[in-house]
Amino acid sequence: MSARGATEDTTVVVVGAGITGIGAAYYLRTNGIPYLVIEANDDLGGVWHTQRWHGARCDSDFVKYSYSFQPHPSSRCLLDRDEIQRYLRSVAEQFDLLRNIRFSTRVTSASFDTTTGRWVVQTPHGAIRAQFVINGNGYFNLPHVPEFPGVDTFDGEIIHTFDLDAERKFPGKNVVLVGSGSTAICAAPELARVSGSMTMLQRSPSYIYEVDNKATPLMRLCQYLYGRGLGFPIKFLRNYLQLRDDVIFVAFRAFPRPARWFFRQHWQDTVNSEQLKRDFSPSYSPWEQRIPVAIGLKEAVRRGAVRIETGTIARFTPSSVVLVGGKELQCDVCILATGFELDFLKFELRVDGAQIEVRGINFYKGIMWGGVPNYFQPVGVWHSAWTQRSETVTRFAIKVIKHMAAHQLNTVSIERKEVDYTPSITPGYLMRDLPELPRLYASWELPTLDNLLGRYRFAPRKLNFT
Ligand SMILES: Cc1cc2nc3c(=O)[nH]c(=O)nc-3n(C[C@H](O)[C@H](O)[C@H](O)COP(=O)(O)OP(=O)(O)OC[C@H]3O[C@@H](n4cnc5c(N)ncnc54)[C@H](O)[C@@H]3O)c2cc1C
Repeated sequence: MSARGATEDTTVVVVGAGITGIGAAYYLRTNGIPYLVIEANDDLGGVWHTQRWHGARCDSDFVKYSYSFQPHPSSRCLLDRDEIQRYLRSVAEQFDLLRNIRFSTRVTSASFDTTTGRWVVQTPHGAIRAQFVINGNGYFNLPHVPEFPGVDTFDGEIIHTFDLDAERKFPGKNVVLVGSGSTAICAAPELARVSGSMTMLQRSPSYIYEVDNKATPLMRLCQYLYGRGLGFPIKFLRNYLQLRDDVIFVAFRAFPRPARWFFRQHWQDTVNSEQLKRDFSPSYSPWEQRIPVAIGLKEAVRRGAVRIETGTIARFTPSSVVLVGGKELQCDVCILATGFELDFLKFELRVDGAQIEVRGINFYKGIMWGGVPNYFQPVGVWHSAWTQRSETVTRFAIKVIKHMAAHQLNTVSIERKEVDYTPSITPGYLMRDLPELPRLYASWELPTLDNLLGRYRFAPRKLNFT
């Protein structure tokens, strides 16, 4: 489609009003760069708007996950999804971002013309012509629903967490929650409160870390000082928590045996040695996969409110789930916490008419794609809070845009080339889709090093401008 068909002009189109898109809008607004945010849903927040199952919350300390420009003091470390969405809304209101967001509008395609140096972003309500696209369309796509033999004979209900609303209650029902990742760990204790019985069925165990979710004295002190008008203690706290995460990540991977011992000790006060071996001893080493953070799971397991079973589903019967080996779990409601398919690009992307494939594309610093000019897609890191990188690389994009305006440059790009990529963690959902994903390079994937040692410093000579 040519730029002539466009009905509106702006400098930057931001796709998505999740934490990435709202962050981009803030930086565009405070730098005086004209922009429009296009959001498919009827409200902002991204996953914090759509994920409404029992216990949906973050498992990164919110001090770190919130934006650096808008700390959110709290007596709790991990916040529920509705509080996170309220926070994002308050950021949008406070910085006057709402008026630039078009809700209920899906971007269907974006086409770049290298001769004009402009994108035409197509939506059902018309096209927008822009010099840059910042894509914050997220990376979760449709729910991942494994196939199980016999589901058609099952008389109960099977529901994916994607479609589950926390308002629902299951009194007197035998609920089987399938999964052992963050979603299952967050949901299990909360579902137990509203169900007749709750069994968490995991195919294989995960490392789980339980917290009391109370702000530590250091957090409280830094937040108190922030309330008194001092900014630097919160900045220090964010960096400290990030450093702690990175050190644990590196140390656990370097020394897997003590790391395994640590988790055995952690669960010893809750389960006996047989259960520890069966349900809490993964076949991989700590931090090869993201470590789910539990709140209240230990207590729920001790009380018997949450029963944990480890096994593979062989088949469904009308009233139960049968595991390989023959064990039968009575089941009226089966909740699938089996995650999502990954998809980094939710609309058609073209450069001079040629369609861009995400599969294997080189992904510079988690912000620019090889051979796609004037395009930024800020992403986070796998093992830590998303914003620790997404916010930094958004600022990188703003610097590039300002540099181009100051020097009257039309396009910026990096070359399309082959790069090798091994993700820093290797969970099933990532490995399943790995060939389809962009390949990250020019980042250590350790925010402490990347941010402090200037890995995302803007050096104009490293980029191609016209
Ligand atoms: C329950 C849950 C807990 C999580 N906890 C953590 C955590 O503790 N720490 C952490 O770092 N990460 C966590 N994550 C990962 C989380 O996805 C990221 O942290 C972050 O929210 C990603 O934000 P985003 O804005 O990039 O994407 P999303 O939140 O997915 O938002 C993308 C937005 O783009 C919109 N969109 C998509 N396609 C289009 C289109 N074609 N046109 C217009 N709009 C479009 C969507 O409607 C959506 O609003 C969690 C995820 C979930 C689901």
